Amino acid sequence: MAKGVWIVAEQRDGALRKVSLELASTARKLADQLGDEVSAVLLGSGVEAMAAELGKYGVDKVYLADNPAFEPYTTDAYAQAITKVVKENDPAVLLLAASAQGKDLAARLVGSLATGMASDCTDVKIVDGKLYCTRPMYAGKCYGEVVVDSFPQMASLRPNVFPLVENAKAGAVVKFEPALGELKTKVVEIQKEASGKIDVTEANIIVSGGRGMKGPENYVILEELAALLGGAVGASRAAVDAGWRPQSDQVGQTGKVVSPNLYIACGISGAIQHLAGMSSSKYIVAINKDPEAPIFQRADYGVVDDLFKVVPALTAEVKKLL
Ligand SMILES: Cc1cc2nc3c(=O)[nH]c(=O)nc-3n(C[C@H](O)[C@H](O)[C@H](O)COP(=O)(O)OP(=O)(O)OC[C@H]3O[C@@H](n4cnc5c(N)ncnc54)[C@H](O)[C@@H]3O)c2cc1C
Repeated sequence: MAKGVWIVAEQRDGALRKVSLELASTARKLADQLGDEVSAVLLGSGVEAMAAELGKYGVDKVYLADNPAFEPYTTDAYAQAITKVVKENDPAVLLLAASAQGKDLAARLVGSLATGMASDCTDVKIVDGKLYCTRPMYAGKCYGEVVVDSFPQMASLRPNVFPLVENAKAGAVVKFEPALGELKTKVVEIQKEASGKIDVTEANIIVSGGRGMKGPENYVILEELAALLGGAVGASRAAVDAGWRPQSDQVGQTGKVVSPNLYIACGISGAIQHLAGMSSSKYIVAINKDPEAPIFQRADYGVVDDLFKVVPALTAEVKKLL
C-alpha cells in the first residue's frame, strides 16, 4: 500500500531554494496527520550538506543521488531518476514546487508515474486519508478543490504561499544511483540575469509598474523604491509588450505567478489576467489615479492619485525609516 509523503527538493547554485523548505514544512504537516514519514528526493552534484537543512524543516529521509548528470537541471535526467526511486518506494503523496522547474518536471512525472495531479495549489490537507488540494481556477476568479484518485497523489505548491515551519527531524541520507538511460537533452549554456537582480518569483516585496508608468525611463522610481525595500520590480503585460520591461518581469496569466508579502501595483488597472499572477500576495497596495480601476477591488490599501507624486513620497518616507 502506498505510504509516506514525498517531496522533490529544488536546489540551485549550491543552495536549496526556499520553496523546498516550504514543501518540507507542508509535507511534515500532512505526514503527521497520516502518521507517516516525510522523504525528499535531492538530486545534484556535491549537495549532501543540504540534507541536514531539509531535516530541520521536518524531513525524515533524504533520497540523494549525487551525479554530475543532474547539474544543471534537465527534465530528462531528473524525470528518469525520480520515476525510478518513486516507483521503488511507492509513496502516497508526492509534492513539487509550482516553479519553472517544478512545472516542467511535474508534467513528465505525471506521465511516467501514470498518475494524476493538482497544479499550483494554494492549500493542501488530508481528509479521510486522502489529499485534498485547493487551487485557483479560471485565472484566479474562483478556487476549486481537487482530489487525485491515483497514487502517488501528486500536487505542485505555489511558492511563497505555504509557511516555513521548523521541525527538527533526522534528514537521514539514503544514497541511490539511478541507472540513467539515454539523455536526449544537453544544456549548452545558461544565460543568467544581470547579477544582483532578484527574480519576481523569489521576492518578498514587488513594486510593479504598468502602462501608467508612461515609458521605460520612469521605472527608475520603482527601481529605487524596490531597492530600498530589498524587493524586485515587476511589470504588467502592457509594459512588457511596449518593450519597457523584460518578459522575465511580467506578472500574470502569461507571465509569472508571484506571492510576495507585499505587492505594490503602480499604474496597473488590475485586468483579470494580471490578477491571476498576483492575487495570492499577502498584502496588495494599489496606486492608481482612476478610483474605478478594478485593482482596488483586490487591494488591501489603495491610493487614488498620480503615481508620479505618490511613489517618490513613499520612497522619501521609507528613507526616513532606514
Ligand atoms: C490571453 C491573455 C493573457 C494576458 N496575460 C497577461 C499577463 O500575464 N499579465 C498582465 O499584466 N496582463 C496580461 N494580459 C493583458 C491584460 O488583459 C491587460 O491588458 C493588461 O494587464 C493591462 O496592463 P496595465 O494594467 O498596465 O494597463 P492598463 O489597463 O492600460 O492600465 C493602466 C492603468 O494606469 C493608470 N494610470 C495611468 N496614469 C497614471 C498615473 N500617472 N498615476 C496613477 N495611475 C495611472 C490608469 O488609470 C490605468 O488604470 C493578458 C491578456 C490576454 C488576452
